[in-house]
Amino acid sequence: MIRAKYHIETPSVGAILREQAAAKTEIGLAAEKYTREGRLVPDEIIVALAESWLTAHDSAFLFDGFPRTIGQGEALDNMLNKRNTPLEIAISLDIDLATIQDRVSRRMVCSKCGFIVSIGLHVESVDTPCPRCGAVLHRRKDDSLDALQQRMIEYREKSEPLISFYAQRGILRHIPAQDRPDAVFAEVCTALEN
Ligand code: AMP
Repeated sequence: MIRAKYHIETPSVGAILREQAAAKTEIGLAAEKYTREGRLVPDEIIVALAESWLTAHDSAFLFDGFPRTIGQGEALDNMLNKRNTPLEIAISLDIDLATIQDRVSRRMVCSKCGFIVSIGLHVESVDTPCPRCGAVLHRRKDDSLDALQQRMIEYREKSEPLISFYAQRGILRHIPAQDRPDAVFAEVCTALEN
């Protein structure tokens, strides 16, 4: 939606890793050991992926799920300084654990087009075909309760410090993400436009 409205790229490092794992590339297979257990993939792999994405695209972008460590944030600064395009905004989607657990338990992903849906909101059940292309929906391997618990630990230890990293620079925007997708989308639009 952001992509269509603002004509900017919205690369998701997690989605790139899942594509690479499905294609059984060296990076995809190396990363899968971490993602399956809900652990962050080492910075060297992630920074190399982000760098090759940035080398291939000179358009405006909004990364989804990157950076997730201070090391990645510093590497991103170096990459953007070389391009003379410093980061303009960092968005923190603020949400409580119960809502995260609920959304993770309802999330399904299209096996063909990657469309993400929520059971009860976009589709009726796990057996409903993808509303966009009709292919089979499946659950992400890391959408288990165990992996989610580990993802939360990783978030608190390694990603949360980025909040002050970007707040100190005055480019952090907090967005309440408890509401329905259209309300969160409207808040993100306001942040991007201001
Ligand atoms: P996501 O699709 O953003 O939920 O990411 C799924 C998984 O991919 C994460 O739990 C990590 O294992 C891995 N991943 C995605 N982005 C990053 C990142 N920036 N740094 C490290 N690991 C990542």
